[in-house]
Amino acid sequence: MFDNRPINFVEYFNFLSKSNNHKAGYVSVIGNPNVGKSTLINKLMGHRLSIVSAKAQTTRHRILGILNHPNYQIIFSDTPGLINPKYDLQKKMMASAKETLLDTDIMIYMVDCSKSVTYDESFISRLNSLNIPLLLLVNKIDLSNQTILEDIVITWEGILPKAKIYSISALTGFYCNQILQNIVELLPYSSAYFPKDQITDRPERFFVNETIRKHILNYYHREIPYAVEVFTEEFSEEPDIIRLRSIVYVERESQKGIIIGHKGKALTTVGSKARRDLERFFDKKIFLKISVKIAKNWRKDPTMLNKFGYN
Ligand code: GDP
Ligand code: MG
Repeated sequence: MFDNRPINFVEYFNFLSKSNNHKAGYVSVIGNPNVGKSTLINKLMGHRLSIVSAKAQTTRHRILGILNHPNYQIIFSDTPGLINPKYDLQKKMMASAKETLLDTDIMIYMVDCSKSVTYDESFISRLNSLNIPLLLLVNKIDLSNQTILEDIVITWEGILPKAKIYSISALTGFYCNQILQNIVELLPYSSAYFPKDQITDRPERFFVNETIRKHILNYYHREIPYAVEVFTEEFSEEPDIIRLRSIVYVERESQKGIIIGHKGKALTTVGSKARRDLERFFDKKIFLKISVKIAKNWRKDPTMLNKFGYN
């Protein structure tokens, strides 16, 4: 018999995306400073460092890492200033962070079990009002014992009744694989958000270039046309520090002047903003030296284009 039910497009879309069997989504990892967020992300990422162009970042998400797998793509992001808005700027960010909360597919809230339980009421009530999976990770269990841990878990069960609570040690890796499996299970069916083969060749340098470029474009607004290209000549990683030497190429003498600024102030500002971003990303101290060079008409010069990665 002819079935004349109207097509449910939502169902149909879900069917289509499920049939390609791929999962992808944003996972926000939030929590007070030093609870172990970066340690966890590094552990989950393993050595599969996959960096996305800074251009792809939105103001809502700061991307910390992208974990690619043939069957899934996890985009780890965080929300600066989400918790404890001490400054006006952070309050402003909080306002936009509200959207971030809604924009995320999975929320991971991390706490440190070696510290006493503290939290921000309004923040907690917002977490409780979310309609997305919420994982509470009680981290640093290697510093705790069974009794203390049980107390903490019971306390948090009362504070965040919707959360699934797991005790982990990001440092030793205890229960981290299970967390990864859990995330994959909870991810929605979706095609990848970012090309999986985006950057294979020297991704770290590419990321440095893009970070500096982003801050240049932000800082100088319209004074500087898009005739700026950044090239990182030195990337040397030592145990405690990464030493970077990057060159900003412009097309004209006047542009060089603008980039450097009066007494070098502009370039210093851009440099320290970029450095801070890079320190957060690589989780290491960064020494960054930026110089400005003129490369006339680099856009028409095949050697330069090649150098900048335009093929
Ligand atoms: P974040 O500020 O939340 O990103 O915290 P980090 O990942 O930078 O970690 C802060 C400090 O806690 C670092 O010294 C880590 O080595 C340490 N840490 C993170 N996870 C653990 C853990 O599971 N156990 C212990 N003992 N230390 C940890
Ligand atoms: Mg961190």
